[in-house]
Amino acid sequence: MAARVNSTHDASLQSWVESANDPASDFPIQNLPFCVVERGGGSAAAPEDPRICVAIGDQLLDLLELGDAGLLGDPESDLVLSLQVDHLNLLMAQGNEAVSTLRRRLVSILRHDSPELRDRRDLRESAMMPAAGAKWLLPARIGDYTDFYASIDHASNVGAMFRPDAPLLPNYKWIPIGYHGRASSIVAGGTPIRRPRGQTRPREDQPPVFGPCAMLDYELELGAFIAGSNAMGEHVSIGRAEDRLFGICLVNDWSARDMQKWEYQPLGPFLAKNFATSVSPFVVTMEAIAPFRTAARARPSSDPQPLSYLLDEDDQARGGIDLMLEVWMQSAAMREAGTPPVKLSSVNFDRMYWTLAQMVTHHTSGGCNLEPGDLIASGTVSGTDRGSRGCMLELTWNGPGADPARSPITLPTGEQRTFLADGDEVILRGYAHREGFRRIGLGECRGLVLPARD
Ligand code: CA
Repeated sequence: MAARVNSTHDASLQSWVESANDPASDFPIQNLPFCVVERGGGSAAAPEDPRICVAIGDQLLDLLELGDAGLLGDPESDLVLSLQVDHLNLLMAQGNEAVSTLRRRLVSILRHDSPELRDRRDLRESAMMPAAGAKWLLPARIGDYTDFYASIDHASNVGAMFRPDAPLLPNYKWIPIGYHGRASSIVAGGTPIRRPRGQTRPREDQPPVFGPCAMLDYELELGAFIAGSNAMGEHVSIGRAEDRLFGICLVNDWSARDMQKWEYQPLGPFLAKNFATSVSPFVVTMEAIAPFRTAARARPSSDPQPLSYLLDEDDQARGGIDLMLEVWMQSAAMREAGTPPVKLSSVNFDRMYWTLAQMVTHHTSGGCNLEPGDLIASGTVSGTDRGSRGCMLELTWNGPGADPARSPITLPTGEQRTFLADGDEVILRGYAHREGFRRIGLGECRGLVLPARD
């Protein structure tokens, strides 16, 4: 069952960390997302162990320091011990009740009238640092990664390019479609991405060639980290699936479209996807987004209802997320000219055809075990109009189907793009706001495209 709104979401809560009270901040006291950073900005001059932190305003709060100082209760408790490592897997393993306890404790430490940390200058100086200087690490050791295809608008757009007569395959409205992705090449946002080399077939009357990808694309996706575990052979019922979601992040599923087009049949994505996937440094807990839960997308009466193992009253009522997702871009020429990034598209996650809970339940329905720290991603999030399409393939409609909507993107510098150029930086952003609650954000997921190796 989706987490409910409680006193930690109270919009009137303020923090003594002043920057957290800025209405434009992604990280007010009502959010408190987890991240893992290398202290000292990763510089060789001041190397320090990676630390689990929460973001509050423009600051990071080091939970190891807080635990050592006794502010998180019994120093030998599983909860405090789980914060002494360089990944969130142990915290994710404990389940969401423990995470909720920690959240309430952090709110009580950070609220404006709490002196516990505010008035302890030495501890404050050792436990808090500016987010701006941080070197981001992956929030979890991701054992397995699965990418879904849950936006029916994305599936319809891409399908229309490749199969104009039958854009949606017959299984789409019955099964949350996905594929098993590659975990080893997932990197934290901010890590530059090297253009892959691979096999493509630019001309169908010629043999394939090997070389740098010429059609590099991004995909705007929402990710979810798994909490708890189920034994192999045990499925997770739809009524329990929300308990298996730890929190959400932004995901950029970098895609080599020319490689994909040549290799994808008959077994689906392979090298077109496995060279890199970026995740945002921050994991926003399911409890933090409780005020922004909404109904699952309504299905027209002509669509089949989900089979019973994917159908749950609470999931239908609250399984969606009212969350805006955006793609921004800045080319090398824009950076040199001091031109800020430009927004390419924005879309609401409430349009998804399948909920995160349905993805978890379907994933385990045959007996597959999901482990703490596993990552699932939603698939490209798109809407129907041009300004809501979550990848360049859809934005420029550069598929095989001739379409009047087919046109390159023009940047403020006058440069044009059909796919990504070297030096382009893609920036994903996400935020939720609703009357009566504080706006919260997912931060950013950045990736700069580097030229292919020789
Ligand atoms: Ca994808």
